[in-house]
Amino acid sequence: MAADAAAQGIRERDADGSIAIVGEEPTAPFPRPALSKKLWTDPDFTYDDAALDTAGSTGATLHLGRRATAVDAGLRRVTDSAGDVHAYEHLLVATGGHPRRIDGLEPGPRVLYFRTLTDYEQLRALAADRPAVTVVGGGWIGTEIAAALHQHGADVTLLHPDDRLGAPRFPAALAATFEDLFTDAGVTVRGGVRVVGGSGDEDGVRLDLEDGSTTTADVVVVGLGIEPAGRLDGLDVELADDGSIVVDERLATGVPGVHAAGDVATYPDRILGTTRVEHVDNATTMGRVAGRILAGSDETYDHTPYFYSAVLGHRFEAVGTLDASLETVTDELPDGDDGERRLVVYYFDDAEVVGVLLWNVEERRDAARAVLAAHERPADASDLRGRIA
Ligand SMILES: Cc1cc2nc3c(=O)[nH]c(=O)nc-3n(C[C@H](O)[C@H](O)[C@H](O)COP(=O)(O)OP(=O)(O)OC[C@H]3O[C@@H](n4cnc5c(N)ncnc54)[C@H](O)[C@@H]3O)c2cc1C
Repeated sequence: MAADAAAQGIRERDADGSIAIVGEEPTAPFPRPALSKKLWTDPDFTYDDAALDTAGSTGATLHLGRRATAVDAGLRRVTDSAGDVHAYEHLLVATGGHPRRIDGLEPGPRVLYFRTLTDYEQLRALAADRPAVTVVGGGWIGTEIAAALHQHGADVTLLHPDDRLGAPRFPAALAATFEDLFTDAGVTVRGGVRVVGGSGDEDGVRLDLEDGSTTTADVVVVGLGIEPAGRLDGLDVELADDGSIVVDERLATGVPGVHAAGDVATYPDRILGTTRVEHVDNATTMGRVAGRILAGSDETYDHTPYFYSAVLGHRFEAVGTLDASLETVTDELPDGDDGERRLVVYYFDDAEVVGVLLWNVEERRDAARAVLAAHERPADASDLRGRIA
């Protein structure tokens, strides 16, 4: 997604420069949020509605199904897995991350580490048989996919390690509400469960759990987050502990001619400080800024991204840190037009607001950013109630 946005950003300033995108997926850049939401929930929304048309709209040449295997930053060349060498003036590393794996559980005909359009197509075909699906992971991807599969008639079990679904992110009362959304809909939610191994074949999948028991399913979908893909042979950039690439406010890596953007980049956010964001607003806005910078712009990246998720008719957005171990204050707003609960949650670290969650509250992202940007330390945290109404 960052690569597509960068190509658009380049074209804002430079109509003619050549653009090459080397991507290991066999498909062109595609908006990932649709893969776990709209393509499942909106019958009128098609692949063509979602597709980005990177090549058509920017003239970029797509070299697909190829990994960038090595970089020679001195000669400014990238070698790909087909053995081709791409010379560059400017290199943008927008490699995102690879799904975190469960030891021993290989991806296969019935085991998906869900991230790509190819994964969507595989899961959609499997879902047609209304299988028994076990989803591993209670984060954004796990919950969205569990909801989507349930809505398509699958018998869904969601395994997660916490007391309540969403407990790492939401205050306890909201986590209970969140879990109820799933159980009331008919999804089986099993908390306190860790998957430590497993195996799958054409017929089904076995999962090994930490307590020594096993469970079986027709299909398993794993959503355990990503590991940033910042390591490229020959590219001597500064890496953060998580394997992401450290960039400055101009998205530069310190290696001449090399920038990074998107999920793979740890950057200095104007409001949040040094951070890395695995969400689409960041990937597309940062990617576009990177493209303009590559094409000569002297700007900096000073957008503080929001993120969002949507499940079972509820939508939430957030800016900053959602960590339920922090002090939180919840502001209940009047119910929405369809009777849905609406609330704002403020997260405090050392008395300062560091995160804002907007639950069924639309168009208030800028207000949330303003609260964070003020770096306030209210004497009484509850004073913030009513600030974002
Ligand atoms: C199913 C799903 C749903 C999502 N929904 C939401 C949402 O609702 N809201 C939200 O805010 N965010 C969402 N996200 C997150 C969002 O999609 C990501 O933040 C965004 O895709 C990151 O863009 P990126 O370009 O940095 O990385 P990616 O989109 O991961 O792209 C990186 C690309 O680089 C390729 N690559 C990696 N290494 C190499 C290499 N060595 N050589 C060549 N190519 C390589 C990868 O294969 C990949 O194609 C979702 C993600 C997924 C998977």
